[in-house]
Formats: sequence, C-alpha cells, structure tokens
Amino acid sequence: MANEVRVRFPPSPTGYLHIGGARTAILNWLYARQHNGKLILRIEDTDTGRSTEESIQGIIDGLNWLGIDWDEGPYFQTDFTAEHQAAAQKLLAAGKAYKCFCTKEALDSKREAAMVAKQEVRYDGTCRHLTPEEIATFEATGTPSVVRFKVPERQGGVGYDDQVLGRIEQQYSEISDFVIVRSNSKPLYLLCNVVDDIRDRISHIIRGQDHKDNTNRQILLYEALGAPVPIFAHMPLTLDTKRAKISKRSHGEIVSVQWYRDHGFLPWAMVNFLCLLGWSAGDDREIFSKEELLTAFSLDRINKSNAIFNYKKDDPKFITDPKLLTINAHYLRTMDLEELARLVKKELAAAGIWQAAYEGEQREWFLKTLDMTRERFYTLKDFVTQGRAWFADDFEMCPQALKKNLLKHAELQEWLPELAGRMAAMANFTAEETEKVARDFAEEKQTKPGIPINGCRAVLTGQIKGPSMFEVFEHLGKETVVRRLRETGKWFAK
Ligand code: GLU
Repeated sequence: MANEVRVRFPPSPTGYLHIGGARTAILNWLYARQHNGKLILRIEDTDTGRSTEESIQGIIDGLNWLGIDWDEGPYFQTDFTAEHQAAAQKLLAAGKAYKCFCTKEALDSKREAAMVAKQEVRYDGTCRHLTPEEIATFEATGTPSVVRFKVPERQGGVGYDDQVLGRIEQQYSEISDFVIVRSNSKPLYLLCNVVDDIRDRISHIIRGQDHKDNTNRQILLYEALGAPVPIFAHMPLTLDTKRAKISKRSHGEIVSVQWYRDHGFLPWAMVNFLCLLGWSAGDDREIFSKEELLTAFSLDRINKSNAIFNYKKDDPKFITDPKLLTINAHYLRTMDLEELARLVKKELAAAGIWQAAYEGEQREWFLKTLDMTRERFYTLKDFVTQGRAWFADDFEMCPQALKKNLLKHAELQEWLPELAGRMAAMANFTAEETEKVARDFAEEKQTKPGIPINGCRAVLTGQIKGPSMFEVFEHLGKETVVRRLRETGKWFAK
C-alpha cells in the first residue's frame, strides 16, 4: 500500500528510556494506531562505544510497561552497516559524494581562522574538485579519507513543510558539504538513519526539534538516493522550569520511565500526561482515554514552543510534575477495583504485608479498604505508606497527626484506652453505634467530640485526614480498634 502510514521510534540505546523519548514513542504510536498504520522499533546502536544491552532492555521494558506496542522490529541498525556503506558507494559513484583527505589539523586551523575572521565555519570544499589522479595519489600513500556529501553549488535551496512548524527552508549556500562516512569507514547517523528509513518505507518522521537541523541535509540524501521524502513533524523539546533540557545528569532518575513504574504510577496516566507534554486537543481537557486520544490527536496540534516538565528538583514537595500526580490520582481513583487490587497486591507483597486472606475470606474487606482510601491517594505507593495502618500494625504516624491530634492533648493517653474498654463491650460494632459511643464519651469528659475522635484517627490510621472516622471504626473492626486504642501510650512514649 503506497499510502500506508509507517512511522518509527529509533532510540539510541545509550541510556534508559527517558520521558522525552517515551513521548516521541507515544506520539508515533498514536499516529500509527490512528491511521491503521505501522510502528517500527529500530535500535540505533551504531555508536558501539556508548550503546549497551542494558539500555536496549530498559527501552523495551519501558515501552512494554507503557503499553506501547510496535508492529515491526526491533531492528538493529548495526545489522545494516553493509547497506549504509553501499549507499555511500552509490553516492560516490554517482558523483554525489566525494572523498575528502583533509587532515584534522588542517580542518582545525581553517575553523579557527574562520572564527577569528567571524566568518561562518564551513568546509571550504578543498577536496570537492580533486582530479582522479590526485585521489589516486592520496590513496596510494594510504592517506585516510572521509566521505562528504556534495551539496549542490547552484542557486536555490532545500525545504519541507513541517507539520508542526510550517515551511522550513535553507539555501544550499548555507549547508556545508557534510561527512557521511568517517575515516574508519563507519557511516554516520545522518546517512544510516536515512538509509534505514528508506528501507523501512517510513512515511512520517515525528521526532524532537533537536533533529530539526538535520532534516534539510537528510532531504538532500533522500533526493540523491532517489527515494521519496517522508513527511516531517518536529516536536518541542522537554525542558525543566529553569528552561534547561531535562537529563539524567542534572535531574536524576526522575526523568526515566522506569522511575515512574517503580514509584506507583499507572502506565496509562503516564501516556496521558506525556501526550499533553507538547500537544493539546485545543480545549482544556486533561484526561483522555485511549479512544479519546485516537480521535483527538493530530500532528498540527503539537505545540511549537518547548514543553515544560514542571519538576523542581530542589523542592522536596515536588515528587514530580503536579499535573502528572493529578492525572495519576484520577486514574487511581476511578479505575476498576479488581484491577487496582491486582496492582496493590504487588505493593503490599513488596512491603512484606500481603496476606493470602485478601484473596480469600477477606476479599470484600480488602476491596472496600482500597475503595475507601484511594480517594486521597496519588500513587500506588500511598497504599503502603499513608495506607499502611489498614494492613499492618507497624505503621508510622505522620508528624502532624502525632503533634496536633495526640500529643497536644495529654489527657488522650488515659482517655483512649478507656474508650477502648467501652468499645470492647459493644455488641454491634457499626459506624452508627461507634459514633454514639464516641460522642457519649466526649460528653461525659466535657470535651469537644473532635478531640477523642481525631485522637482515634491518629492512633488507628496514623493519619491526620481520611474517611469518616465512624466508618473507619467499623471497617477496621473491633479487635484492631480496641487493641490499638489500648496501646495509645506507646505514641506518647516515643
Ligand atoms: N537515534 C536518534 C535519536 O535517538 C533518532 C533520531 C531520529 O528520530 O531520526 O535521537
């Protein structure tokens, strides 16, 4: 099919899958799925010094976790070196490229001279017009050479209609004869990438603006190789709040997809968030199901200006971009309960507090616990941190709850064990009945009901806020409530 949409995600495996790369993959995937097209995964591993197996695995794991599936590949660029070299030979044979014997020293001094004269630093074409005899002499003496592409010398230029940025043009005179094969015979990215995209019959190249400056040179290569030029769309870069490019070196693991998987984020929340990093539907919607994205997405709604990943690395309040937390919370709070249970099981197991009964006689209790607590939670981790008291006795109390709800009222040290006694004697341990007992108790002590009730919240859940306390009593159950209230003293002793 001539008009088939074929897009690609071609990461260089020199690090983990970072959120910028994941966004590129996601937008290509969306475009492919929207047009019944194909997504090709190509690992651009020609930089053998920097490519690692671990990184390849990390990229594949990250895509799998996000739910980004591809139709072809992974292809490995290093498997096609002979093809890249053949393309260079073809260009040489057609007089569209030439061997350049200039030494590094000669090029460096010309570059310096150009800089001193405040001229543009460009290759001056010394080897462009060598005669066959001159070339033969260099080769006979074993002089190393690179292969340079011959940029047309005539008037005019090259350009394309970027689907995001509009028309982008460059005069031939602005483009230097660029190197396509190094002196060690290794073809360079500009060429390999084009040869692979031609072979993979790529119709649309959707990639970051950091590649925008490569595009015109690559178009010259397509034309010289006699191949149709794909459609290009360049996405904005992802910057931090100080407008610096996000990177592992300056931001740490927080910019890797794995970090989010390991910190209780949901894959679709991540996909949804990353789509919005640089694209908008043109309204203020922030939550998109897959179907909604497939309808709303279009290349021309990709923003032109850079996207800001709102993460302040020096501010401990920010786990990550607040919008991502909000989106994650939305899915956590509305997702299918059984599905949530499957995910929380993993968290509880990793924290060593999973019990088989949660899948047996306590199933209903377990599901209700998740449903009651998730209203305040942002990530899956919250079930084992803020929510730990629901599943284990060895929870920590949040400092605010300890100070405001407990220590501030010394009398609670006596009162709560006393209230435990009343509760132990109850026949019907329901929300309603516990409310009555708690309120009567407060009246008898001539205090505001909030004081013993908030004290109970601290001692029973470790938190300052949460679901209605009477429902908490009922759901936690008489035995646990009584036991924990009796142990109130331990918090005062800390
Ligand atoms: N391997 C390149 C990168 O990871 C691919 C660029 C492209 O999409 O052409 O940046």
